[in-house]
Amino acid sequence: MALIAEQAHDESICRLAVSGALAAVDAVCTGEMMNAFCAVRPPGHHASDGGEYGLCFYNNVAVAARYAQKKHKLARILIVDWDYHHGDGTEWAFYDDPTVLFFSTHALDAFPRTGSADKTGKGKGDGFNINVPLPRGTDDKRILNAFTEHLVPAANKFRPDLVLISAGFDSRKDDLLGDFAVTDAGFAELTKVVMSIAATHSRSRVVSILEGGYNAEGLALAVESHVKTLLGT
Ligand SMILES: [Zn+2]
Repeated sequence: MALIAEQAHDESICRLAVSGALAAVDAVCTGEMMNAFCAVRPPGHHASDGGEYGLCFYNNVAVAARYAQKKHKLARILIVDWDYHHGDGTEWAFYDDPTVLFFSTHALDAFPRTGSADKTGKGKGDGFNINVPLPRGTDDKRILNAFTEHLVPAANKFRPDLVLISAGFDSRKDDLLGDFAVTDAGFAELTKVVMSIAATHSRSRVVSILEGGYNAEGLALAVESHVKTLLGT
């Protein structure tokens, strides 16, 4: 943890993380790649406008979403966040915005203790913020159910032009900060759900950006499973 925080304080590293996400958006939106995974740190989904929070400095996925809209003229962006922690910074960024649908599964009683299901957005953005808090020990079946029951119908109604993933793997079993029990096979299944949405609505365009994951060995295995699924291998 100390090492991560120390590294994250290097401004140039934070900027490189955002730049990596934007380069991936460019590659996917120009058709150079069908999808992309950004192995970047620090993570971003807790960052809003107030400096470092929860190891996050710049909200990589939020900047990527807005960049895709402004640079590539995409109308609707779906952000899927399966990190163990709620993406409060991302929710904050788009809470009143109907052009970005934010879907998050997370532990409600963990940091940052936000993300209740009744937080659905406000104004024109009401209905475009979907929180699905899950209990301790959440396994593949339970998180997959959340995706099929809550994400898929909302995404089919929303019809995203691009799908972004806040790919946090602290929801994996044996993580040092989380207490979910999602397996590497489970992350492959979640990836397939997202890819199916993208295949239907957004020309298969998916940009996945690393968030948490604090068991180094487990993180590597989960990312391998995720990326292999993205590659279709
Ligand atoms: Zn996390």
